[in-house]
Amino acid sequence: MSYKLFIPGPVAVSEKTLRAMAQPMIGHRSTDFVALYQSIQPDLQALLYTQDPVYISTSSSWGIMEGAVRNVTAKKVLNCMNGAFSDKWNDVALRCGKEATALKFEWGQPVDPEAVRRELATGAYDSITLIHNETSCGCMSDLPALMAVIRQFPDVISIVDAVSSFSAMAIKKDELGIDVFITGSQKALALPPGLSLLSPSKRALERAAKIAGRGYYFDFIEFQKNHENGMTPSTPVIPLIYALKSKLEDIKAEGFEARYARHLRLNRAVRDFVFGKGFRLFPQEAYGSVSLNCFANTQNIDLGALNKILKSKHKLVIDGGYGKIKGKTFRISNMGDETDETIASLLRSLESALAETPKLAS
Ligand SMILES: *Cc1c(COP(=O)(O)O)cnc(C)c1O
Repeated sequence: MSYKLFIPGPVAVSEKTLRAMAQPMIGHRSTDFVALYQSIQPDLQALLYTQDPVYISTSSSWGIMEGAVRNVTAKKVLNCMNGAFSDKWNDVALRCGKEATALKFEWGQPVDPEAVRRELATGAYDSITLIHNETSCGCMSDLPALMAVIRQFPDVISIVDAVSSFSAMAIKKDELGIDVFITGSQKALALPPGLSLLSPSKRALERAAKIAGRGYYFDFIEFQKNHENGMTPSTPVIPLIYALKSKLEDIKAEGFEARYARHLRLNRAVRDFVFGKGFRLFPQEAYGSVSLNCFANTQNIDLGALNKILKSKHKLVIDGGYGKIKGKTFRISNMGDETDETIASLLRSLESALAETPKLAS
C-alpha cells in the first residue's frame, strides 16, 4: 500500500519529517516544551510576515475556522463563498448560532472585492470570512485587493483561511492587515494532518475578550494566556510540533523566495503539460492557484479509470474532483516538498496513463 499522494491535502510527507516525529515525549508543561514552543515562534512569525503571536492548535483547520467565527463575531459575519470550503464556512457560522450572510460567487470565480465593499458598506457586519485559495476548485482570489477593501471598515475583523496557500507564496499578514490568519499542517507545509496555526491581531484579541460563548478549546484568550508562557491551553500534538520545527528548518535552508519560485515553477509545469493534452483550467486562468491545478475534464475522460491506472501502475494518486464537481474536474497538487524531478516523474506517469484512459460515452 505504498503510493504517493498528489492530492491537494494531505500531501506526501518526507522521511525526514516522519523521523522528526519519532522522538521521546516531553511534558507539555515542562521547560523542554517551553523551549520547543519558543524556539519556533520567530520562524513562524517570519513565515507569516507578522509581529503577532502564532498559536499552535491541535486540530485540523476547521477547528480554528469555527473557533475564529465564535471568537470575533457578535453582530454578523459575512461569508465570502466560491467553493466547497468557503460554502461550508457559512454553514459552520450558522451552526454556531451566528447571524451570517452568504456572499456567493460561482465555484471557480474569485471573490469580487467590489461585491465585498457593497456588502460591508451596509454596516451590518463585524466580521468577514475569506478563503484565499479555494482548494476545492483551485481558485485563488486577489487577497491584496480584498484586504484593501476590508481595511476600510475598521469594525470588521477579517478571518482569512490561507490553508492551502500558506508557505507556497508570500502572504504578508501585517502588511495586508489580516486580523485572524489560519492555516493547517497537511497542505503546503507537507506535515501530517492534525495541527493548525492561528495568528490573531491585537484588534482580534480585543474583540474576543468582549465576546461571550467563545467556548474553551478554541478560545483566543486561553491561547494568548498560555502563549505568554510558551505553552498551549491543552496537551498538544507534540510529534507534529517536532515535525513543524524540522520543516521550518528546511524552509529557512531553502529560502522563502526560492520556495515560492519552486511552487510557481512546478505549478506551471503541470499546467502546461495538461493544457497540452487538451484540457483547460476549471477556474479563470488568471485566478488559478499556485499550489494545485484544478482542470476541467474537457476531454470527458473516465477519471475513475485514470486514477486506477495511476495508482496500480504508477503508485500515485491524483484527485478526481471535489463535491459537486467530482468527475467534471481533476486536481493535481504541486505543494510541499515536490521538486523538478518528482513533478517530471509525475508527468511521465500521467502521459502513459492518459494514453490508456477511456473516454466516457457522452
Ligand atoms: C484543507 C482545507 C481546509 C480544511 O482543512 P481540515 O484540515 O480538513 O480541517 C480548509 N480550507 C481550505 C482552503 C483547505 O484547503
